[in-house]
Amino acid sequence: MEELELDGLVIRETRTGEADKIITLLTGERGRLSVSGKGVSSIRHKYAASSALFSYSTYLLKKRSRYWYIADAFYIDSFTELRYDLEKLSLANYICDVAYEFAQEEIENRELMSLVLNTLFALSRREIPNELLRGAFEFRMAVQEGFMPELGGCGICGKPLGDADCTLDVMNGRLLCKSCREELANDPTYLADETAKIHIRVSPPVLAALRYIESAPAKRFLSFSLDKMELSLFSVVCERYLLNHVEHGFPSLEYYKKIKI
Ligand SMILES: [Zn+2]
Repeated sequence: MEELELDGLVIRETRTGEADKIITLLTGERGRLSVSGKGVSSIRHKYAASSALFSYSTYLLKKRSRYWYIADAFYIDSFTELRYDLEKLSLANYICDVAYEFAQEEIENRELMSLVLNTLFALSRREIPNELLRGAFEFRMAVQEGFMPELGGCGICGKPLGDADCTLDVMNGRLLCKSCREELANDPTYLADETAKIHIRVSPPVLAALRYIESAPAKRFLSFSLDKMELSLFSVVCERYLLNHVEHGFPSLEYYKKIKI
């Protein structure tokens, strides 16, 4: 019988019976794993804490037919602070949904695991504005998962950018200076391509933040600040950047936006 010992985070749970559920674990070594939890919804079950949403534990898993099941678990953390703040809790749900989207079944992705753990840790224990955390997570996830834009200078003429407003050409992953953007606006071939037209204005402070997130070490990617007005532009840019590449929205994001103050 195949056995695995690894650290995992519960990012999804699906009830399958009165006390039974299937949990989805996010792991660094094996990506996403579906684990059968017979009886674990019962509060008295010895693995109840390790099977709850947002639980981070060391698991000993064994495989029987299609599913893994828990042979032993050592509970580490469950970011309990999140449960006292509905806005943070709903943001944590969205973070787990994005992780589920990008993690592949049984394929190693240690960078993704570390991004999700660092983000949940900061959300539950650090005083960081939720919108800054959300945007930085979205943009960093896009960068890590293969959608890294070229933020050095204008993607057409090469002119250095940073002092004046420029535009992010989302689907082409490049910046455009004012004159190149205006030239494109008159190019009928370019305009015929619907995806090419997803352009968002980016101010110098927002561009500096995007450049920082792109290159910061894993544990420091949230160590920057933006004033209130720039923060609202930043969150629009990051959300549109991620969602246009994923090509769909998330109900958990809609819920978070509905309840956020
Ligand atoms: Zn240009």
